[in-house]
Amino acid sequence: MLIGLAENPTCIECGLCREVCPVFQIQSQEEYSPRGRAMLHSAGLQTLVFYQCTLCRTCRVVCPIGHDPNGEILRSGLIEAGIETPANQTMIINIRLYGNPFGPLADGELPKVLTCC
Ligand code: SF4
Ligand code: SF4
Repeated sequence: MLIGLAENPTCIECGLCREVCPVFQIQSQEEYSPRGRAMLHSAGLQTLVFYQCTLCRTCRVVCPIGHDPNGEILRSGLIEAGIETPANQTMIINIRLYGNPFGPLADGELPKVLTCC
């Protein structure tokens, strides 16, 4: 369930979420952890790091105060600010032109490239 940014409990920076975040497990840098993302947001920054979230909300399950990462809202803020990755722009163009994120596909053809933001 999405929580509006205004009613979302403020992260207390305990770090419990770091152990369960799949993105942090791969990137191993604080800015990619749920705590790091919360700190970047609190500082008023808009950064491509906000795209690096699976939206799984495992972090919220273990969070002692129930802080929600609100990845969808942070991403929509990036889009409104015109902050997009080239892969994201390509997916949007493909969806508009071909109705799918992969580009032109013949009937039954599988995509050759899987894009992600
Ligand atoms: S919702 Fe995002 S920040 Fe939270 S655990 Fe999943 S990938 Fe990490
Ligand atoms: S998001 Fe929750 S679990 Fe993670 S550091 Fe902040 S308060 Fe702790």
